[in-house]
Amino acid sequence: MRTPCAAPPLDPERFRPDFPILGRMVHEGVPLVYLDNAATSQRPRQVIEAMTDAYERHYANVHRGIHTLSAEIDELYEGAREKVRAFINAPRDASNDDNPATTQEVIFTSGATHSINLVARSWGDANVRPGDEILVTEMEHHSNLVPWYQLAQRTGAVVRHIPLTDDGLLQLDSLDRLLTKRTRLVAVSAVSNVLGTINPVREIIRRAHDAGAVVLVDAAQSAPHQPTDVQAMDCDFLAFSGHKMLGPSGVGVLYGKRDLLEAMPPFMGGGGMISEVTLEGFRPLYLPGKFEAGTPPIVPAVALSAAIDYLGAVGLEAIAAHERLLTQRTHEVLESVGGLRIIGPAPEHKAGIVSFVFASGRPSGHDVAQFLDRYGIAVRTGHHCTMPLHKRFGVSATVRASFYLYNTLAEVDKLGEALAAAKRAPFSAFLSAARSE
Ligand code: PLP
Repeated sequence: MRTPCAAPPLDPERFRPDFPILGRMVHEGVPLVYLDNAATSQRPRQVIEAMTDAYERHYANVHRGIHTLSAEIDELYEGAREKVRAFINAPRDASNDDNPATTQEVIFTSGATHSINLVARSWGDANVRPGDEILVTEMEHHSNLVPWYQLAQRTGAVVRHIPLTDDGLLQLDSLDRLLTKRTRLVAVSAVSNVLGTINPVREIIRRAHDAGAVVLVDAAQSAPHQPTDVQAMDCDFLAFSGHKMLGPSGVGVLYGKRDLLEAMPPFMGGGGMISEVTLEGFRPLYLPGKFEAGTPPIVPAVALSAAIDYLGAVGLEAIAAHERLLTQRTHEVLESVGGLRIIGPAPEHKAGIVSFVFASGRPSGHDVAQFLDRYGIAVRTGHHCTMPLHKRFGVSATVRASFYLYNTLAEVDKLGEALAAAKRAPFSAFLSAARSE
């Protein structure tokens, strides 16, 4: 039996009409239940309209011209940068003759993957030597693993991993052993995209700094769902993507401390990132332009600004509290279905992400996801770009339900009903039914 829940602090029904896609049917009359938010979120009308408005009324290239449209788009693009700065509470810089920019520590990229690769290439190549150590965790997304493996291949450094408990928490006591005087960088996700685990990043950062290491926080799954304060966290770098936080795909953010960014060489070369080019060479531009070679994601950045406005109006604390309720209910519902193994910690340690498998191994994750789709329920299945994590838990794939501000408790109950039906259904029967339609 389900335990009664307190009234939700946020009413998702208030927001659902803002998201046109949530009103659509799938499979002829089955309402969509979108539980794949960790892969990418949906967008409210306000964000779609911000994109349309930018294209219809203000579009030009940025930092290139003096005509009216050029000035308007510059204002929108740099306004978006300022919006991001406030969203993560990065410091505001005083402009001076050397650098007129007041938001020097926010760099627009194409996404979290690009942001992390930028640090690995630029900071990593300049600072990491043979025998140095890079510390990651066993729960990292491939985007926060592969760039460090590549850096290790280029430099002769060694990648070490913080292990996990069977509950899916970081074994923090291992830090005493793993943080050494050779540790140059610690790269850790604030929230796991599979386990949902909320990691104690502040403690990790403090201990890493005590050991003399720099810390990159992968905030791809945290920035959209809970308040972010880079100054309180004291992280050195922070990366996230627009498309997971109601914004468009194609834009992401890298925050970096100014002294680190200033000392780093540009990652890519091209237009927009130079102050002078001669036949002999070039001088890079000041921050943040130094890291934005070529035409940046202009309109996606402008729309990300609208997404931040939307999130700000709803309130990130309220979103986090709502997702805690959904996660709690999901655990209860999955337990009442029976026969399911949840991969990850208890709800009090996690954000709005719940991954699971049928403990017997059948039906498989792929078959479950296909079955759920008949009920209109969109979940993700597979390794979710975390192969080492799946290996750690002895599974090759999980089914993942992940939530956002527009998901309802009724949708979680529907997931439970569909899983109960999947459990009851003769496996071969439901798949052939799905195939015959
Ligand atoms: N880090 C985490 C924890 C993620 O969940 C993801 C995407 O799922 C990424 C990084 C990569 O994000 P993107 O594909 O937007 O670059």
